[in-house]
Amino acid sequence: MNTQRTMNRQTMGRQTIRGAVLYGPRDIRFEEREAPRIVEPTDAILRLSATCICGSDLWPYRGISPVAEPTPMGHEYCGIVEEVGKAVKSLRPGQFVIGSFATSDNTCAHCGYGYQSSCVHREFMSGAQAPVLRVPLADGTLVATPELPPADMIPSLLTVSDVLGTGWFAAVAADVQPGKTAVVVGDGAVGLLGVLAAKQLGAERVIAMSRHPARQQLAREFGATDIVTERGDAGVARIKELTKGVGADAVLECVGTQESMLQAIHATRPGGSVGYVGVPHGVELNGEDLFYTHVRLHGGPAPVRRFLPELIELVWSGKINPGRVFDLTLPLDQVAEGYRAMDERRAIKVLLRP
Ligand SMILES: [Zn+2]
Repeated sequence: MNTQRTMNRQTMGRQTIRGAVLYGPRDIRFEEREAPRIVEPTDAILRLSATCICGSDLWPYRGISPVAEPTPMGHEYCGIVEEVGKAVKSLRPGQFVIGSFATSDNTCAHCGYGYQSSCVHREFMSGAQAPVLRVPLADGTLVATPELPPADMIPSLLTVSDVLGTGWFAAVAADVQPGKTAVVVGDGAVGLLGVLAAKQLGAERVIAMSRHPARQQLAREFGATDIVTERGDAGVARIKELTKGVGADAVLECVGTQESMLQAIHATRPGGSVGYVGVPHGVELNGEDLFYTHVRLHGGPAPVRRFLPELIELVWSGKINPGRVFDLTLPLDQVAEGYRAMDERRAIKVLLRP
């Protein structure tokens, strides 16, 4: 640790940082709070290189998921290990690491089965829209890059933490295979990276559903072969038309509304699969309708930890450039403007520089 900094902290007494805190609908503040520190011996403290705003942050921001008390926001992160607890074995200060939005021991039965986001010791991260972050279960949650990354790679590495990992899980859960036809419902950042994932997993045809020109353009860049602008039943009809009346083999549901979920299920062929990663809000499925669709459903909070080594390698080797999904970069102290830009759909995804 830097001696000068240590002295300054001692002079100031209690260490503080400034980060994003949500107080209520559309009331996000950048304010001082106590600096994270090692609490458990399995913790690590990271100095973040970049963080960002997630589509799922908009649910509480819009008041759709109410917050009971002022809540530190942010769960996507990457940065330099500053300090580790006594029990941390695999990491050391100075390494660049990326972790999932869900912590995991990476040793329990669920972790061993590839479902680290259902780890028996799982905690959902928050407070990452800040310069410093405490990560519990550091050994099982964080993965280090081979070396310190070049600055221009950091946005792509940051996507691995959630938005790419989640889009990737949507494609895996939808059983995208070489030669198959995939449909992506949702043109937010997760959907766009779902397009990238489907392409990487070998889909021959990737149909993106979007009515926004800038998002359509990015979808094409990530590998979309077709764009469908219709929604709901009209969207389903268009998918049927494009697949000779059959429906798609694999559908990635990346929104979480009743309309998007039904659109996904009805666009899938009998025997096909829907991978759903949009956090459901008011989704209710009719058992009998579902029974006759013959469609497989699999989804949930993405076990990003399962994919971290593979996705870091794809970014590191330059095979993918998912950081393209950030179309607005702001200093962290302008986080409120970042939320507004995403809420008003002026930005696809906002990167924040601490
Ligand atoms: Zn576990």
